[in-house]
Amino acid sequence: MLCSGFNVVGFNWISSPAATELESIVLDWMGKLLKLPSSFLFSGTGGGVLHGSTCEAAVCTLAAARDKALKELGGWENITKLMVYASDQTHFTFQKAAKLVGIPPSNFRFIETSLSTGFSMSSDQVRLAIEHDIKSGLVPLFLCATIGTTACGAIDPIAELGKVAREYKLWLHIDAAYAGSACICPELRHFLDGVELANSVSMNPHKWFLTNMDCCCLWIKEPRFLVDSLSTDPEILRNKASEFKAVLDYKDWQVALSRRFRALKLWIVIRRHGLANLVYHIRSDISMAKRFEAFVAKDDRFEIVVPRKFALVCFRLKPKQELEGAELNCRLLEAINSSGRAFMTHAVVGGIYVIRCAIGTTMTEERHVDALWKLIQEKAQGLLME
Ligand code: PLP
Repeated sequence: MLCSGFNVVGFNWISSPAATELESIVLDWMGKLLKLPSSFLFSGTGGGVLHGSTCEAAVCTLAAARDKALKELGGWENITKLMVYASDQTHFTFQKAAKLVGIPPSNFRFIETSLSTGFSMSSDQVRLAIEHDIKSGLVPLFLCATIGTTACGAIDPIAELGKVAREYKLWLHIDAAYAGSACICPELRHFLDGVELANSVSMNPHKWFLTNMDCCCLWIKEPRFLVDSLSTDPEILRNKASEFKAVLDYKDWQVALSRRFRALKLWIVIRRHGLANLVYHIRSDISMAKRFEAFVAKDDRFEIVVPRKFALVCFRLKPKQELEGAELNCRLLEAINSSGRAFMTHAVVGGIYVIRCAIGTTMTEERHVDALWKLIQEKAQGLLME
């Protein structure tokens, strides 16, 4: 409400010094909560920006990586050689972003994952794909690793992928949109080990960090690449502060010119709750997801398909025959959602149709989880009777 009410239109520093300065401050705060290396922080050698969504962050980082590579290769005609690597679990937004920055869809290489490795991307497979492409005269550009994939919460091995990215000089981006929030807990921070090898990292406080839509943090080690790619210098925006290069103009860190005072939201969340309460929020959601997982595991009619990751459980009603699995669970999901008492979503992972239970909103309590499980059992019973 404050962010809308103040109606700040912060194109550049001069149009709202407060919005700009506070944004840099909260990005450093958030980065410190995640124990990001100082190479990503303003207090070190990098910096961060708030975007509305990971989609925007993906477009901007891909544009920065593209322009850096094209400069080295000597011209735009090389754009068709640039290759992007991601797992088959990576959010579709990176595919869309690659296309938006002019990389042909056929240059987007999916690395296959499987249930046996928890749908995590293998660095050996990435290496093989890169080697193969280099032999074909292509230029590996960008590797996207995810901490907490959308469908099932899979976690890519950042340190191993970082080494491959370094060796072949790829831009490594870490998409921690969902599970980045969990890395404020000391016991979960290890998922970010190796982050020092990345070029950029993004996470969405609007997913699991009690922050209202829309809010995506993007940190970048060498912000000059972002600015080189996205900066514009129209006469109407010229001002002394920008000319002396003494300030930050966030218009050069994003697609749009106009921008809101998003920093206020994250500032309020961090100040209002404090680290201890935010850690408590993540831990209590994970413990509710564990509670849900235990309910499922105890009921023979169901099975956990992908072991819980963070606060996300992928499960299904066991089919009598595998071929019936998708239809049975699709009907169960419809029965749950049409009750109006809960709303769940599904995914297909490794060819298996699963129902997803993701705990993460501000007001969820154990009693809601218990009621949800009762509802699922009731609807499953109805289906099985049929
Ligand atoms: N990356 C991951 C891992 C996600 O789970 C999502 C959304 O579900 C996104 C990216 C896209 O985020 P946004 O809606 O902020 O673009």
